[in-house]
Amino acid sequence: MTTMLGLSLTGRKVVFVGGGAVAARRLPRLLDDGALVTVIAPALGAEVQALVDAGRVEWIARDVRENDLDGAWFVHSATADRRVDARVAAWCETRRIFCVNTSDGAHGSARLTAETRAGDIVVGVVSDAGVDPRRTARVRDAIGAQLAAGLFPVRRRRHTATGRVDLVGGGPGPLDLMTVRGRRLLAEADVIIADRLGPAGALPELDADVEIIDVGKRPGHHPVPQHEINELLITHARQGKRVVRLKGGDPFVYGRGGEELAACLAAGIPTEVVPGVTSAIAVPQAAGIPVTHRGVSAGLHLVNGQADISATTLAALGDDAVTTVVLMGVAALPKLAAAAQAAGVDPDRPVAIVERGHTPQQRTTRTTLGRMAQDAADAGVRNPAVVVVGEVTRTGLLMGESQLVELPLAGDVNR
Ligand code: SAH
Repeated sequence: MTTMLGLSLTGRKVVFVGGGAVAARRLPRLLDDGALVTVIAPALGAEVQALVDAGRVEWIARDVRENDLDGAWFVHSATADRRVDARVAAWCETRRIFCVNTSDGAHGSARLTAETRAGDIVVGVVSDAGVDPRRTARVRDAIGAQLAAGLFPVRRRRHTATGRVDLVGGGPGPLDLMTVRGRRLLAEADVIIADRLGPAGALPELDADVEIIDVGKRPGHHPVPQHEINELLITHARQGKRVVRLKGGDPFVYGRGGEELAACLAAGIPTEVVPGVTSAIAVPQAAGIPVTHRGVSAGLHLVNGQADISATTLAALGDDAVTTVVLMGVAALPKLAAAAQAAGVDPDRPVAIVERGHTPQQRTTRTTLGRMAQDAADAGVRNPAVVVVGEVTRTGLLMGESQLVELPLAGDVNR
C-alpha cells in the first residue's frame, strides 16, 4: 500500500545513485523543487554531465558507499545494477531514509508519482500494484489535460494574503477559441471583470458565487472609465482574490491591457497576461480572408477607426501590397473613405466588412473604398465589425466564384 505525501525537498540533501537515463529524467524534477542533489556514479550520461557542468548537482565520481547517505533526507537509486540498488535500499532501510529503487520492477520504500501541474495545483498518480509507469503516465495525462483546460473545480476556498490579476484574452467569441491557459485561470478566479465582447459562453459554467463585474464598453459610451477598472482590479486583488480581467480578442490589441498591466504592477500586484486570438486576424480569417497572402499582400497595417487618420494609414491604404485592418471602424467609414479619396487612393481598392466574426450571425459585406460608406449604410452594418482594405479581400482570392458563399462554417463549426 502507498500513502501519498507531498514532500518539500527545498534546501534538503537528496542522494541520487546512478547517472544514466533515469537520473536524466528525474533529476530536473528534484532540482525544480530546490533539492540539494548529490549524484554518485562512476560515470555519467551526457544529460547528467550537463547538470554537473552547470553546477546544478554535485557529483561524486565513484561507486556508492554507505556513508554517502549521511545527512540525506531522500535517496533515489537507479544504477542499472540491481544488486547495487538493493544494497542502497537496504542501507536506507536501517537509516530510516525513504528510498526510490527502480530496479527489478519493484518499488522501494518510496516512489515518485507521475505528476502534473496546473497553476499551483499538483496532482500525483501512483498505483498500489506493480511498476507500470506508462499506465500511471496515461492517467496523469488524462487528468492533466482536464486540469489544464479549467474543467476541475480548482477555485480557492480560502483567499491568500495577496491576490493576483490575470489579463486574459478571450478571443473573438467561441469558447473553444480561447486558450487552455485562459480557461484554467477563469476556473480559478474569484472575480471576473468582463467586457461586452469576448467569450460569454465561458461565464455560465462558473461557480455561482464567482463575482462577475461587467464593465463592457459600447462605442461612444463608456460605462466604467478605465481608471475605475484599474481600481477594481487592484482593490479585489488586495483582498486576496484571484481576479481575471477577461477581454475580447487579445488584451494588448486595442484592449487597454497595457494600461491595466502597468497599473497592477505599479500597485505591486502579481499580474500575468494571457494572449488571445485577436479579431484583427481571426475575423477576416472567418470570412476566408488571409491578412497576408504570398504574392498579394506582404504586410499588415492595423488601425483603430476612432483615432485620427494618420499619414501612415493613408500610405497603407494606397499601397496595394499592404492589407489595412480597421477595428472599431464602422462609424469611421465615411471619414476614412473621404481621407483616402483626398489622398488619391484608388477608389476601386477592394474592401470587406466582416460583422460578428466567428459567431452564427457572421456577415460579410464586400465593397470598395469608394463605395464602402454607402454600401455599409445600405446593408445596416453594425459593430462589432472588422474592416479589411486591400487586395486580399478580392472575391475569389482563395476559391472560385462558385464557392463564394458566406462561410457558415465559421459560425457552425465553432459552436
Ligand atoms: N482586443 C480586441 C479588440 C478590441 S477593440 C481584439 O484583439 O480582438 C473592439 C473591436 O474589435 C470591435 O469594434 C471590432 O472592430 C473588433 N471585434 C472584436 N470581436 C469581433 C467579432 N467577433 N467580429 C467582428 N469584429 C470584432
